[in-house]
Amino acid sequence: METAWVVVIGGGIAGLSVAARLAPRVRVVVLEAESAPGYHASGRSVAFAHYGLGNGPVRDLTALSMGELVAHGSVHPALHIASEAQTGLLDDLEAVHHHYGCDYTRVGAAGAQALMPALREDACLAALVDHGSLKLDTHAMLQAHVATLREHNGKLVTGARVHTIERDGDSWRIGTSKGTFGAAIVVNAAGAWADEIARLAGAAPIGIAPRRRTVISFAAPEGKDVSRWPFTKTVGEGFYILPEGRGQLLASSMDEGASDPCDAAPEELDKAVAADRVEQATTLAIRRIGHAWAGLRSFAPDELPVIGEAAGARGFFWCAGQGGAGFQTSPALSRIAAAAVLGEPFPEDCAAAGLSAAFFSPARLGP
Ligand SMILES: Cc1cc2nc3c(=O)[nH]c(=O)nc-3n(C[C@H](O)[C@H](O)[C@H](O)COP(=O)(O)OP(=O)(O)OC[C@H]3O[C@@H](n4cnc5c(N)ncnc54)[C@H](O)[C@@H]3O)c2cc1C
Repeated sequence: METAWVVVIGGGIAGLSVAARLAPRVRVVVLEAESAPGYHASGRSVAFAHYGLGNGPVRDLTALSMGELVAHGSVHPALHIASEAQTGLLDDLEAVHHHYGCDYTRVGAAGAQALMPALREDACLAALVDHGSLKLDTHAMLQAHVATLREHNGKLVTGARVHTIERDGDSWRIGTSKGTFGAAIVVNAAGAWADEIARLAGAAPIGIAPRRRTVISFAAPEGKDVSRWPFTKTVGEGFYILPEGRGQLLASSMDEGASDPCDAAPEELDKAVAADRVEQATTLAIRRIGHAWAGLRSFAPDELPVIGEAAGARGFFWCAGQGGAGFQTSPALSRIAAAAVLGEPFPEDCAAAGLSAAFFSPARLGP
């Protein structure tokens, strides 16, 4: 039986980022069921960091992460657009950008069109340009964490599906399809499967709910270089669209269909709704959807991440519920999770931002 001080279950951004934080201090083994890291949600994101999503604490985590994210991304503007009915939401989002000291500009329809020429005049009454949002290299982020883990004698074991988690004296014994592992601490970073992993360990599930999100890819207008078009997103219900290289565009209707934990696949209706919303709001004609994918964004009932030791399961820590912001919050969230696992104080900068361990503790969600 191979032993480590910490076994992390899940080789997505949640598990790998916390493993990389812990590895210089203690021996860490990451167990991933699939044949490569980032196969599920973490391999299916649109890889953007911005303030246009999430609740207050998620935005705080984003702000606390931006400094580190710069190393893994390039600055690419976000254009948050509002119809007449959405101008209140745009005002709220402007207050958010002001609060975090973002470099932003409020523009009218013409200003929005100057940045995003395909936008129809009637689709946008006002908009906010965030000049500091980031296009992330999520593959590089995952690989950098794997490299840190290995550099410190840690290990990522792929193809290791966890099927049992049992108490063995003061430690845990974890049975997988690649053998048995022993550890003092288990970190549950299993994304959509986090409740299932908790049940295996005899810990109470907390209601982690996976929601499917669909992305379509299609060709940009013939001969047009769209690579500098902003990440364009409606402030409320609607869609987002962003460039993928010079000649491709990605879009989503920001669907949130409830799903069981699974290898998510796009549904025809969700693809059609995304294409329709893009065509309604822009002059783009989507002749053919080249490629589409779906991934699961997993939420706790209050849509905050869940970080901390499970009640009644000593040494079993949650690191789940990253929702739609798992990459952009990972620098701060992994520091919070590592401090919890090591029994160290809550990170000072996170506390100064008004956050505390209680915000993220599984205890807030009841027994
Ligand atoms: C379409 C889409 C767009 C997104 N866009 C963005 C964005 O722009 N910016 C952003 O910050 N976030 C974005 N997200 C959200 C982000 O991708 C997630 O928050 C993040 O990937 C969650 O990471 P995770 O490690 O918790 O989950 P996952 O990546 O799903 O990792 C969990 C891992 O646990 C493994 N596992 C499960 N059960 C077991 C078991 N029994 N044994 C071993 N391993 C197991 C799984 O195989 C999986 O690899 C987006 C998500 C989607 C779907």
